[in-house]
Amino acid sequence: MNKGRLIVFSAPSGCGKGTMLAEILKDPAFRCSISATTRAPRLGEVDGVNYHFLEKEDFLARVEKGEFLEHAEYVGNCYGTLLSEVDPYLEKGVNVILEIEVQGAMKVKEIRPDALFIFVIPPSIAELRRRLNKRGTEQTDVIEKRVSQAAGEISKAPNYDYIIVNDALEDAVSDFFAVIRAEQLRTESRREFIDEVINNA
Ligand code: 5GP
Repeated sequence: MNKGRLIVFSAPSGCGKGTMLAEILKDPAFRCSISATTRAPRLGEVDGVNYHFLEKEDFLARVEKGEFLEHAEYVGNCYGTLLSEVDPYLEKGVNVILEIEVQGAMKVKEIRPDALFIFVIPPSIAELRRRLNKRGTEQTDVIEKRVSQAAGEISKAPNYDYIIVNDALEDAVSDFFAVIRAEQLRTESRREFIDEVINNA
């Protein structure tokens, strides 16, 4: 059985990444890794579903034990990908999506260079601010912090393999699946098939 593909999916908060993922995850070939974080749950967020919510002490102890593939600090909180959320699923042939920010993504690039790196960008910063305000989950000062963080993150977009603009949700989701299909058709992914055709000639 073929192993699953590790997919790093980054976007500044407010880019509509969550809505895009909800659509993508309707396909059972994909799974989103559940990250660990020290940030407090937002209204409606459930431990073990949206995140593994950890106390900072516990988070750092797990870092020491080598339980993380990567971890990073973002707007004052720790976030990290647990290895247990990734490798067992890749082994089963499931494509695992890491919904992580850019520092973590760049660490993954060093340790798992075969991963696929996708960056979701908003049509503009003004639209991003509008979406964050509409979501209403953060205070104005936190929104402004996230907007300036976003501008910094967008400058890192050229380090990714593909850029998807999330203007209309449907187009962004179909662009995601177009990327996946293109990757499946790459020569490197087709070597076994080429050999099979030659050997059965
Ligand atoms: P939020 O607080 O909005 O849920 O997430 C803030 C940022 O942390 C987002 O950019 C999100 O992609 C990122 N993030 C979530 N989980 C992880 C993780 O496991 N590792 C890293 N490096 N970033 C993460």
